[in-house]
Amino acid sequence: MSESPLAVSLTTTRPPWQQELARAVRDPAELLRLLELPATLLEPARRAARLFPLRVPRSYLARMERGNLEDPLLRQVLPLTAELDPAPGFVTDPVGDLGASKGAGVLHKYHGRVLLITTGACAINCRYCFRRHFPYAQANAAAGQWHSALRYIAQRTEVEEVILSGGDPLTLADRRLAQLVTQLVDIPHIRRLRIHTRLPVVLPARVTDELVEWFAGSRLQPIMVLHTNHANELDATVTSAVKRLREAGVTMLNQTVLLRGVNDEAMALTALHQRLFDSGILPYYLHLLDRVAGARHFAITQDRARELHRQMARRLPGYLVPRLVQEIEGAPGKHWLPP
Ligand SMILES: *Cc1c(COP(=O)(O)O)cnc(C)c1O
Ligand code: SF4
Repeated sequence: MSESPLAVSLTTTRPPWQQELARAVRDPAELLRLLELPATLLEPARRAARLFPLRVPRSYLARMERGNLEDPLLRQVLPLTAELDPAPGFVTDPVGDLGASKGAGVLHKYHGRVLLITTGACAINCRYCFRRHFPYAQANAAAGQWHSALRYIAQRTEVEEVILSGGDPLTLADRRLAQLVTQLVDIPHIRRLRIHTRLPVVLPARVTDELVEWFAGSRLQPIMVLHTNHANELDATVTSAVKRLREAGVTMLNQTVLLRGVNDEAMALTALHQRLFDSGILPYYLHLLDRVAGARHFAITQDRARELHRQMARRLPGYLVPRLVQEIEGAPGKHWLPP
């Protein structure tokens, strides 16, 4: 078989993870066909996807069970017309991020930590995400080559930790991220670099040698906070990606969002946290869903959340019980819900 020179150069210059990112499933018809689901779901999925597109990497899709509409991974990505139902109290900017923005993708709400919105892009579109409405395309630090974000951080000597968030920062190329880290290293008061990402879970090929090098190879202490909601998300490919990060000295933490129909059972949450520990990841936060327009069908009550948290605490060692938290607009940190 002969390939054109152009095709050869494209495949050799783009790392495999970027090719996989580009080949994500975006057509609801293809999703239903690959998972052997009824075609009656197509029209509703198309309608909901018009507001927030379908997007799911094939390696994540491969962990779903065919023919199972209740699959906990499928439920996180399948567009449903329930998203279009009016829902009082569910709004487009539930945590007040637009108000907290210091411009150029910098969010400085909490003491000592600055959050950078590095990009609006994600590898997967999670239906419950507040990002479905946030105008990240305009407000991100990368758009201005990081200059004004770095200037802000350099002026705030009380800031010790920079958190890369998004979207998903790991959708950016290693070269760009390495360039940012080089500049952060030059700011003497920065001690820790934290990345909030779902990519090692939904597209583990993203954990390249280059990533490990720029992330764990500087004087900054590296912390990665993954976002995992169900034990089925953690297969052997994820575990081996995490192992390489840990061996390089990265502290691996996880946050989970409580989601009706995905993980709102004590057994599911217990299994998830045991599996996280088996993979070398410690639990950090268990979030109540942000009340974002289009996500009401994922919400559980605060009482139910507290009950699930209590049940987890009865079954798991203390170090495997995450903090139950809620984001409250204008608060100086995540609000902890006492047991
Ligand atoms: C969640 C968040 C942080 C990090 O908070 P931690 O409690 O340190 O994990 C920082 N800044 C903003 C704007 C946040 O939303
Ligand atoms: S920001 Fe996180 S939760 Fe939202 S769509 Fe991206 S990966 Fe999913």
